Amino acid sequence: MASTLNRLLETFARIGATPDGGVCRLTGTPEDGGARVRLAAEILSRQFGLHVDPIGNMFGIATLAPSSQEAVLVGSHLDSQPTGGRYDGVYGVLAGLLAIEAVVARAAAEPGKARRNLVVANWTNEEGARFQPSLTGSSVFAGMMALDAALGLIDGAGVALGEALAAIGYRGTADLPLEPRRYVELHVEQGPLLEEEGIEIGVVTGCWAARKLSLVFHGEPSHTGPTRMARRRDALRAAARAIELHHQLIEASGSGAHASAARITVDPNSPNVTPSRVQVWFEFRHEEAAVAVALGDAFLAEAQAAVAPLGVDIEIAVDEQRGTASLDPHGAALTTAVARELDLSSMEMKTIAGHDALALNKRMPASLIFVPSQGGLSHNPAEFTDEAALDKGLAVLTEVLWQLVTEE
Ligand SMILES: [Zn+2]
Repeated sequence: MASTLNRLLETFARIGATPDGGVCRLTGTPEDGGARVRLAAEILSRQFGLHVDPIGNMFGIATLAPSSQEAVLVGSHLDSQPTGGRYDGVYGVLAGLLAIEAVVARAAAEPGKARRNLVVANWTNEEGARFQPSLTGSSVFAGMMALDAALGLIDGAGVALGEALAAIGYRGTADLPLEPRRYVELHVEQGPLLEEEGIEIGVVTGCWAARKLSLVFHGEPSHTGPTRMARRRDALRAAARAIELHHQLIEASGSGAHASAARITVDPNSPNVTPSRVQVWFEFRHEEAAVAVALGDAFLAEAQAAVAPLGVDIEIAVDEQRGTASLDPHGAALTTAVARELDLSSMEMKTIAGHDALALNKRMPASLIFVPSQGGLSHNPAEFTDEAALDKGLAVLTEVLWQLVTEE
């Protein structure tokens, strides 16, 4: 029989389901709205309080200690990539909901033990697929991004995030009425390490560094027919050269860095005009910030030299450098101890992907717990984690939350 968690995951996988078995729930779309309505119903059916803040973050509040203003937060996100899987984000929200339900039942059975309250959160636009940058709701909540700037983020069609949230009825007004003290997030790993090592629980101690370079290649528009080849200044050809160079440089470096060029816009994007302006988003990720920065520098120098003979110039539109960060050591130690108590194997690891926990860690001690991803596959409709592994993560999360609400 399927676990309650798996049944809930099935229900949410139908909202924004794609024909290939994945989900597409971009922020502020009717699909995102549908998932939010469903989550609100799940929150209210458990007699938790529901709040939606001005950037659309949803909070389900379980009052365990009425005299305390303190809360431990748990959650993740319901939005997805266009080629999203059924677990990324939604697992952490639904497991958070069920973990809180279990802690509430235990607190009722052991009165007087709970010293603070619990909140399940759905953070707006974690993925950054429709609106950039990612981690929007959690960054606003952490005080790292101004609310107005976040509401004013524009998608590819010129729609602002604030308008999109209002359109689905989730541009709220209620700030969280409690003092957040800690955050815990449960997530699928999205990489292969836990599966390769045969480990059940990943205790995330920090994150890799990333450098994101958005480069604009400036050429010149001309007719794709009569213009002599030597006369053309083709920005797309230059971008292609730089993209391949980027991969070669990473391979040759032997640094273990991860890198990709995953987004491109071409202007005027007409079959009969040589591309005059092409923008490409490149990224470099490495365990050490200095390596990510140095790889970016080397790439810029080589790319400029490689495209100059094509009569194309490179402009740096964005150069975003994220350093490494350490998550809460107390939460990591607690997670390791809980896994041992529950007879589950665990290992410490770093996250290569961005997560809301990393943004929230700027405001309060934050923890991140992983369960294995089959084949390390994510942002893909075939993303899969089996039910037993999902339930193990839930069991660890539940016990960690119990410890955090009852400890001194
Ligand atoms: Zn995620």
